Amino acid sequence: MAEASYDVIVVGAGIIGASTAHFLKKKGVDRVLLIDRGDPASGGTGKSAAIVRSYYSIPVMARLAKEAVQLFHNLEAEIGVDGGFHATGFTQLVPPDWVDTAKELVAMHQSLGIDTDFVEESEWAKRFPWLESDGIGAIVVENSSGYADPVQTTEGFVSAFTKAGGEFRPRTPVRALARTGDRITGIILEDESIASGAVVNATGPWSTFLAASAELDLPMRAVREQDTVWEVVPGRELPTTPVSNPIEATYMRPMGEGRWLFGRGYPKPYFDVDPYNYKESADEEFVMDLRDRWCQRIPALQGSKLLHAYAALYDVTPDWIPFVGPRSGLDGYYDAAGGSGHAFKTGPIFGRELADWIVDNEVLDDFRQFSYDRLASGKSFNQAFGGNRV
Ligand SMILES: Cc1cc2nc3c(=O)[nH]c(=O)nc-3n(C[C@H](O)[C@H](O)[C@H](O)COP(=O)(O)OP(=O)(O)OC[C@H]3O[C@@H](n4cnc5c(N)ncnc54)[C@H](O)[C@@H]3O)c2cc1C
Repeated sequence: MAEASYDVIVVGAGIIGASTAHFLKKKGVDRVLLIDRGDPASGGTGKSAAIVRSYYSIPVMARLAKEAVQLFHNLEAEIGVDGGFHATGFTQLVPPDWVDTAKELVAMHQSLGIDTDFVEESEWAKRFPWLESDGIGAIVVENSSGYADPVQTTEGFVSAFTKAGGEFRPRTPVRALARTGDRITGIILEDESIASGAVVNATGPWSTFLAASAELDLPMRAVREQDTVWEVVPGRELPTTPVSNPIEATYMRPMGEGRWLFGRGYPKPYFDVDPYNYKESADEEFVMDLRDRWCQRIPALQGSKLLHAYAALYDVTPDWIPFVGPRSGLDGYYDAAGGSGHAFKTGPIFGRELADWIVDNEVLDDFRQFSYDRLASGKSFNQAFGGNRV
């Protein structure tokens, strides 16, 4: 392949690729190309519930989520436009048999400086008048968390990237990675090859296929995830924050203008699909079941009208944590995928840390575990369930 045309090519303009491209430019990398077969956020990012919270059981994930919340609060300063973040707070319901774990998690989160605490049961009726409290063991709130508009955030990162001199090519599928021995040397498009000093594979559920084009292993399930949007009856008292409810295995968040997004949360069944060919509309049975689950917990939702229902993809790694970073024995290649259904919030932090890794070859020790190398070295993340999957 000819002399490199770019210093770095980022394939995939979801939240992870778009933010990686932005932070590479911010770090002064000269020639950066961001390329997507669609438009920004046309993968899972565009359909994300985009709840931004810190409730994680793995300490490094809680640390990154805390930094993500801070970044979302300063998003306009970072990207120069409104990224659509709403700092509403976040409400986590806890089943009785998870309360002891939740106590450990809240203590860990507070030690990291996360603004979180339990709400005393005596205050529930006043603070959560909309809630049917039967079967709830505890309630945790995070005061600085919230939700974002995932398309607006991602477009904001792309716009900051192009304003800084980065090049963005939408609607351009990458057919394969170019490889010579133990080096990835660029990308192959329909009718041209482009050489690059480094390539970032940020193609979400499709990253396995791009990796395989250069004979790289990248284990990832594509799992179908359905979400629904409802118009609630005007004038009713409802939560003002996103709510995670493992008791009925659901989540919800406000969307503004009397609309609410409802989804199914952990624990639930997961269905593997072909990411190039899956049903993008929701199943009627799923929609009705979801409505019943939420109406049971928040009776004021009765009478809500369904506006929209759809399915998108989770890209799930073996330990439900993304692969981010270089791999031993391979030059010029970086993984940046495998959000496993929870990497909208941390996407920009993964992008920022990856840019540091690429440019300075430096990251904090706890971040090195995100490399694909963890599989071979037996250092996968432990799965601990304390109200959320990770
Ligand atoms: C329904 C749903 C709800 C979610 N809710 C939350 C939530 O509340 N909070 C949270 O933190 N996370 C949530 N997530 C997870 C989060 O949205 C994802 O982890 C994150 O958006 C993934 O971003 P990404 O950039 O890795 O991938 P994607 O957004 O999938 O982006 C990959 C991009 O690569 C492009 N691409 C693929 N193949 C090629 C190719 N060959 N050539 C060029 N381009 C290519 C695609 O077009 C796409 O734009 C949710 C996800 C879903 C689906």
